[in-house]
Order: sequence, then C-alpha cells, then structure tokens
Amino acid sequence: MTLVIQGCALAVVDPAGTEHAAGHVVVEGERITAVGPGGPPPGLEHADHVDGRGCLATPGLVNCHHHLYQWLTRGLAQQSTLFEWLVELYPVWARLDADLELAAARAGLAALALSGCSTSMDHHYVFPRGRGDLLAAEVEAACDIGLRFHPCRGSMDLGRSRGGLPPDEVVEDRDEVLAATEAAIDRHHDPSFGSMLRVAVAPCSPFSATAELMRDSAALARRRGVRLHTHLAETADEEAFCRERFGRTPAEYLDDLGWLADDVWLAHCVHLDRSAVARFGATGTGVAHCPSSNARLGAGIAPVADLLEAGAPVGLGVDGPASNESGQLLAEVRQALLLARVRGGPAALTARRALALATIEGARCLGRQEELGSLEPGKLADVALWRLDGLGHADVADPVAALVLGPPAPLELLLVGGRPVVERGELLTASPAVIARDARRASRRLLELAETTR
Ligand SMILES: [Zn+2]
Repeated sequence: MTLVIQGCALAVVDPAGTEHAAGHVVVEGERITAVGPGGPPPGLEHADHVDGRGCLATPGLVNCHHHLYQWLTRGLAQQSTLFEWLVELYPVWARLDADLELAAARAGLAALALSGCSTSMDHHYVFPRGRGDLLAAEVEAACDIGLRFHPCRGSMDLGRSRGGLPPDEVVEDRDEVLAATEAAIDRHHDPSFGSMLRVAVAPCSPFSATAELMRDSAALARRRGVRLHTHLAETADEEAFCRERFGRTPAEYLDDLGWLADDVWLAHCVHLDRSAVARFGATGTGVAHCPSSNARLGAGIAPVADLLEAGAPVGLGVDGPASNESGQLLAEVRQALLLARVRGGPAALTARRALALATIEGARCLGRQEELGSLEPGKLADVALWRLDGLGHADVADPVAALVLGPPAPLELLLVGGRPVVERGELLTASPAVIARDARRASRRLLELAETTR
C-alpha cells in the first residue's frame, strides 16, 4: 500500500527545523519513504493520493502522561488541591473493574486520536483485588481505537497506616506488584521497531510507594530492558512530605534511588530547584509536562524553558481526565506555550518548540526518537494532517503559529503506522456516540458502587 499526501505545508520537526510551504509525504506500508517540497517523485501515479492543500502535516502527537480510568470521574473535586483531590477520589477508584476500565480507556483514547495523538502511554496504578485484568482491558481499548500504546504498570504499596496518602484498601503488596509487573511485560511488551505496544514500570509517587518498591521497580525495569516512570515534584505539599519523611527534596530522593537516568521519564516536575534541573539535563531524565492538569489543580508552572536549556527531554501529557476534563493533546501544546510565557516572558517558548514538545521530545521520553516524532524517511508513518483553511486559521501569518496559537484545528487525517484512524474529523475505528454512551453508563455505575460501599 502506497499513500501520497501532497500540496500541504509541512513541519518536519527534524533537528534542522525543516519546513515546506507546499510539499509531499509518501507512505509505503507502515513507514514514511519520502518527504520534500513540491510534488512527489515520479512513478507514484497508481498510489492513493490525499489532497493536502489548505492543510499542515506534522508528526502524529505523542502523549507522555495519562490515567485513562479517570475518564469516569471527570468534574469532581473541582476546587481541591492535589492531596485533597486524591483523598476524595481514591475511595471511588477503589471500585474500578476491568469492564469500567475498558469503557474509560476507549473514551480517553478516542479523545486523544481526535486531537491528533498517534502514540499514548497510560499510567495505571489502581488494581482492586478480584476485579479482572485492568491492564489487559486498556490494551484491548488501544488495539480497538488503533493507537500506539505504552501501558505503564503502576503500583502503590504505601497506605495510610504506614504514613502514605492512599487508603490501605487501594494499595498492593510489594511482591505482588513486582510479580504482576513482570507478568505484564511477558504478556504485552513488544520491543521491535514499529511496536504498537510497550510496557513500562511505574510505581505511583513518593507519597504512595515505598523506597523499597521504587528500588525494586528500577531493578526489574533494567533487568527486562523496559522504561521507568513515576510522578515527581507535582506540588509544594509533596515537597513538604519528602522533606519531612526523607529529609530531601523529591528530586534528591529519586536521585538517591537511582531514578535520574536516560531510561526514566517523570510526570510534572513543577517544583524543581536549579540543581535538580541541571541533574535532569546531565542524566537525560525526561519530563512529561502536563500544563492543563497543573493549572487545574493550581499546582504551579514547571520550568520547561530551563529544562530544555539544560538538555532534558520534555514531552507533553494530558494527565488523567479527573484533573483535565478535556483530555485533548493538541490543546496542551497551546497551554504549554502560554504557561511557559506566564512564567518566563514572551520568548520562553516558541510555537515551533511547543510543537516539538508534543512530537520529537515526547518520542524521546518514550525512548522512540529513532521511530517516531518527526516526518523523516525510514520513520513510522504516524502523521497528523491539520486543516488550516477555515475561519479559525486561514489568515494566520504562518501555519505552525496557526496550529499552536489558533483554535483547535480540524483534523483532516491521522495515520498511525500508515493506517488511517481519523479522516475529516471522524474516528474510523469506533463510534464516539457509542463510546460516550458506554462511558456515561460506566461513570454512573462507578459512582453508585462507591456510594453504596461508602
Ligand atoms: Zn498523573
């Protein structure tokens, strides 16, 4: 199968910052085989052609932090700090099961696809006993929707009775966690080029996982050659917790556990001092920046410009829908730019750099920069084609500014490994109306379960 997209503007997002005002992308099978200005090379007359006039082609977006299950608990705890929000929601999440997880994951992944995302991770850390295989449920959802997926087997073993934040009913035993995580790697992890499914190891946070679990998780990930993920330095409350319990900042604590390294990416990293930023750069530790969620919870603004300056990979994440009811990745590009400028002035983050966060930088966070994140021959054909000739964008001075600074652009086409997943704004792999109906039912059921067992 050969597909030619032509006549579109192109933002390649390669190291040279290549752009074309009008050009072509040729896709053969799952890979990009040619990209350039003007018309395609000769000999492709019998290929399928997409008229890209009026559109901008970018790499498919990469989502570096999510909790899909939270789709069912949107709109709750609206004025809470992170710790208040967690304490209110943990007992609801404790009633999750595999069917509810499937409905939530389909909704969250559909929203991502419709916002131009071709690769997403999910950080799942709530595993109530005897409620089915929740990780397998979200893998099934990703397979249905057609996104490249990195399920991260999360975990919590530090319950309230031992000084942690979550109630004891939602934490697991450490040996149980490690065995289940290894089983998830055995069952789902595919390390090959072009993989649709890669597992990472992801204990939840310094206030919900013990140091022993953090250490053992790192050892397991490195023994199996998979990546490591957790939350870090999200709020001032977390910093106070770490100083009191460990006598260190969250970043110093993680560094001592061997967690600052180039096989690790960390969500949030809002509260980092200068030495922590330098350590992230020196070690190549990645950051999943989640601007809407941080703003929703009033957590603060991450030092994105400083991290980039230090050389740390910085990707974008929508974070869980309970703290970002939108769940759309393109919106985070604009939000990241605006918040970086609130913090550091109008030159803190350019539109092009913001687009890079959502593409090649995200690919670096997931360890896939050789496969994804730019429109270059040999890479996977994960391509987003945005329509920019309507009222919202047609007269904006340059197409990248139109995409990043303008209103959410209509998605003309989303390819994942050469396969169309969205066409003219329509999801081809599932019905959003059915997904919305199922998610609404699942959300009601979860809230009822939580109410009756309170
Ligand atoms: Zn999170």
